[in-house]
Amino acid sequence: MLTVDDDPAVSRAVARDLRRRYGEEYQIVRASSGDEALDALREIKLRGGRVAVMLADYRMPQMSGIEFLEQAMDLFPHARRALLTAYADTDAAIQAINVVDVDHYLLKPWDPPEEKLYPVVDALVETWLAAGEREVPDVKVVGHRWSAPSYEIRDFLARNLVPYRWYAADEAEGRRLLDAAGEGPEAIPLVVTPDGRTLAAPSTAEVAAAVGLSTSPGRDFYDLVIIGGGPAGLGAAVYGASEGLRTVLVERRATGGQAGQSSRIENYLGFPDGVSGSQLTDRARRQAGKFGAEVLTTRDVVGLEARGSARVIHCGDGAEISCHTVILATGVSYRPLAAPRVAELTGRGVYYGSAATEAATCAGTDVYIVGGANSAGQAAAFFARHARDVHLLVRGSSLERSMSYYLIQQLMAIPNVHVHTRTEVAEAHGDEHLEALTLFDSKDGTGTTVPAEHLFVFIGAEPRTDWLDGTVARDSKGFVYTGPDLLMSGERPKGWDRDRDPFYLECSVPGIFAAGDVRANSVKRVASAVGEGAMAVTLVHRYLQSQ
Ligand SMILES: Cc1cc2nc3c(=O)[nH]c(=O)nc-3n(C[C@H](O)[C@H](O)[C@H](O)COP(=O)(O)OP(=O)(O)OC[C@H]3O[C@@H](n4cnc5c(N)ncnc54)[C@H](O)[C@@H]3O)c2cc1C
Repeated sequence: MLTVDDDPAVSRAVARDLRRRYGEEYQIVRASSGDEALDALREIKLRGGRVAVMLADYRMPQMSGIEFLEQAMDLFPHARRALLTAYADTDAAIQAINVVDVDHYLLKPWDPPEEKLYPVVDALVETWLAAGEREVPDVKVVGHRWSAPSYEIRDFLARNLVPYRWYAADEAEGRRLLDAAGEGPEAIPLVVTPDGRTLAAPSTAEVAAAVGLSTSPGRDFYDLVIIGGGPAGLGAAVYGASEGLRTVLVERRATGGQAGQSSRIENYLGFPDGVSGSQLTDRARRQAGKFGAEVLTTRDVVGLEARGSARVIHCGDGAEISCHTVILATGVSYRPLAAPRVAELTGRGVYYGSAATEAATCAGTDVYIVGGANSAGQAAAFFARHARDVHLLVRGSSLERSMSYYLIQQLMAIPNVHVHTRTEVAEAHGDEHLEALTLFDSKDGTGTTVPAEHLFVFIGAEPRTDWLDGTVARDSKGFVYTGPDLLMSGERPKGWDRDRDPFYLECSVPGIFAAGDVRANSVKRVASAVGEGAMAVTLVHRYLQSQ
């Protein structure tokens, strides 16, 4: 409840009377001018608070009560409003009703409050409660639906499991938040933290720091640095930390990796009803934290070197982290779809991965998915619950060779999923966002242009390990060789300085290990990635003992 009066004695008296009756349930905020009251309201808005009742003095020198209420309504349109006047002022009453639709008109003094003030405020509270405005203490993001930076922030928060609320900048509440922050359209995407701090067009690293995700290491030296926070990295973090190693996991974007993007993992041991990637990630991250592993997000590792017995990793921002051992668990990243205009429209209708944040906006529209493997199939089943129709575009002549049997059966049973074999995206169209797709059907050699707002791409992945050039041996596609693969010709790798063969998951440099999808000849599964993460930790112990 907010009360504003330029006379300090009156202001104190109103606040005192309100506190006496409503103080247990409501916070009473007192201001001595319209400007001060508006500042207080802005702060409440940014913190996600609600305002039930505003009592404003009519005659204040700089800003009248009506002028104040007019501006206050822009911030809290549902708050109930009363005007206080010292004497019956018909003009003020008429103006108040016409301009700010005031609920009550209170004459000062109101003694005894039980008779003159409380019945009025009770009625205001009752009306306000009936309107059912909800408190929003989460992070808030104000942005444009079709803006790639806005999407990036939403996706980042969602993948890091940070609850947030989304407000379109061209809708009333979005405008109110921008006003409260004193920002214009150039600040979009605007992020408001639960304690009311605002970040204008921030980087993901700034958002990470503001919402409490760790971005800096807590120590100078670690026993184990894990690069990559997918199932292999999280598995290694849980085992490493629980077995007493000083462990830090460094993740470029969001923990969970590819698995974090899966809408339903059906074949992971112990989850007979399936588990969503985000649930699995949340549990794994908490488990790693419980054992004392540090998890750093938004840190891109761009270099790795052996400096004597230490291993040193270099981050994109120039920081270094030193350690005894490293586990590379950087997995694979989506291969880009090579068709005209797809790159420009990425984040604005074209998405890589399942982009669960977009599910709600797909309601009633047709969704296009490119890919014929399990990840595309899972996405089709997921979006079928939201979209009008889901079109799965498959380059091959059938799904049988690339997708699990259970998933094909699932898709066949969903009436709004349509599989288009031997069909590719030839071109994307749209200015601000994706509007249409030209599809090429190689069965009859025809091209068709269809309206489309959402295209999700799942066309395989590559390891993106160029930054390891000259450090560890890799195959021609960039996957990292380990253990027996390094001894293919019966020779130990070049530069190998130990009188033993590399351990099973060890790379061509002693003390550096690889686990999960990034490893050459690995099985691309959640279970095998987690298993390799655990196994790599056992080999780390063996390495440390042999030092
Ligand atoms: C949509 C989808 C659904 C799937 N469904 C299933 C399923 O049902 N069952 C199943 O068994 N498998 C499934 N898979 C496959 C499974 O998710 C992967 O095999 C598994 O995630 C591999 O784990 P990983 O830890 O090796 O790598 P990833 O999961 O790829 O994680 C690697 C992590 O490393 C980070 N990283 C990369 N480079 C750097 C760097 N330089 N610095 C810092 N961090 C970096 C990445 O951001 C990423 O978070 C699915 C995959 C996808 C995409």
